[in-house]
Amino acid sequence: MELPDFATPFWLFILTLIFFVIITGRYFLFAGLFYLIFYTWFPSKWKSRKLNVRPYKTHQFKIEIKWSIFTSLLFSMAGAVTVILWQKGYTKVYTTADLYGWWYLPVSLIVFMLLHETYYYWLHRWMHKPAVFKIIHKVHHDSNITSPFTAFSFHPIEGFLQAIFLPIMLMILPMHYYVIIIQLTIMTISSVINHLDIEIYPKEFYKNILGKWIIGATHHSLHHKQFKYNYGLYFTFWDKLKKTESPLFKNLFETTTSGKK
Ligand SMILES: [Zn+2]
Ligand SMILES: [Zn+2]
Repeated sequence: MELPDFATPFWLFILTLIFFVIITGRYFLFAGLFYLIFYTWFPSKWKSRKLNVRPYKTHQFKIEIKWSIFTSLLFSMAGAVTVILWQKGYTKVYTTADLYGWWYLPVSLIVFMLLHETYYYWLHRWMHKPAVFKIIHKVHHDSNITSPFTAFSFHPIEGFLQAIFLPIMLMILPMHYYVIIIQLTIMTISSVINHLDIEIYPKEFYKNILGKWIIGATHHSLHHKQFKYNYGLYFTFWDKLKKTESPLFKNLFETTTSGKK
């Protein structure tokens, strides 16, 4: 089947629209689902795991959803541009699963996430410089107590800086399109989990190797409260390496997960 030329204004619009429906749909699906499960259906079960008892600000969810929809639009534009770059042959996106061997599929996912972590950690550190913070990053921190809807709540400049990472990476790193879909879904779910303000990982989680390196709600809640710690996105290794992990983290994780609160 002959594909149309996606670089025309009409197809650019249609592609952006399709991505926008998918990306906002995915945001509402996961943020909504987590909100329903943890705040509406079973709040008493998770009460001891809630990190902040203070109520949310009036209209907080509405504001977060507004910014998140805008971010989704920027992600959609990045998606449409990626398709055009792919059609013109500028990306390393591939469609035959065993082209680089089956082993490469999980490896490419891990490599992408490690690079994404590195990009975001340093971008995040830069966004916390006072002059930059005021303009670009304050919108995200207006959610002092985070909620599942904070997941994509970014100023458009921050949204743009986050959105460009994928098309740039796909011009360098070969990735199967299924792996890209899995990665984007992990990104959305992990952002919802990290902003949930309820610690959902088990007590034992922090003790095993995996748990030590993966960010959850307790870790990221401390970032929104303390500002100068816990800059990571998925993993804690940059925070550990650069000594920016909150000294309160370990204790808070233990008390939150032991039901002693
Ligand atoms: Zn921040
Ligand atoms: Zn955040």
